[in-house]
Amino acid sequence: MARYTGPVCRLCRRERTKLFLKGERCFTLKCPVSENSDRQTRAFPPGMHGRDRQRQGSEYLTQLREKQKARRIYGLLEKQFRNLYEEASRRPGITGTNLLQFLETRLDNVAYRAGWGASRAQARQFVRHGHVTVNAKRVTIPSFRVRPGDVVTLKVATRENFNVKRNLDIMDRSVPGWLEKGEDGFAVTVRVVPQREQIDESIREQLIVELYSK
Ligand code: SF4
Repeated sequence: MARYTGPVCRLCRRERTKLFLKGERCFTLKCPVSENSDRQTRAFPPGMHGRDRQRQGSEYLTQLREKQKARRIYGLLEKQFRNLYEEASRRPGITGTNLLQFLETRLDNVAYRAGWGASRAQARQFVRHGHVTVNAKRVTIPSFRVRPGDVVTLKVATRENFNVKRNLDIMDRSVPGWLEKGEDGFAVTVRVVPQREQIDESIREQLIVELYSK
């Protein structure tokens, strides 16, 4: 499946907020969107006129930016995101919450939440390259949706990987309440489908629903 391969800090600059797409670097002063950044001069939207552009406060723009932000946080292209929304809208329950649950239960996101990848992009690569198993079976599809009771494990050979060790030591992320750590942090069990309050991304999903249901 296709993915965005361009410069990612540009995406944060466009959204004027940190989307944490680069792992460790996002927590340093090198981040151009950081308040105390040593690159503060680039804290404006990208493009030739980014510096001059005045934001028009339209309702549509607010909804569009929120959708783009969510899409970029989880690393999806427009079509994948739209399809996910369509599926969420067909499900019983609140469409916005369904959408976020679908995004959170993607296998690449679970590998990220487990702390194996510094960013979702890196976690996605681990999945793609066959380093992750679900219920002892290798799964290489990042969009694979985990369900309660599934056990997601990092392959034994990969546990010695320098990046994985570094991420677990340095990033020191705690797993959200809907996951449970096991095997010294190299396995996670999905306890329940995440509830909205267990998803800590600052996304206003209602705006996305409003945008797509026009
Ligand atoms: Fe975004 Fe991270 Fe780049 Fe900062 S360093 S702009 S948070 S991707």
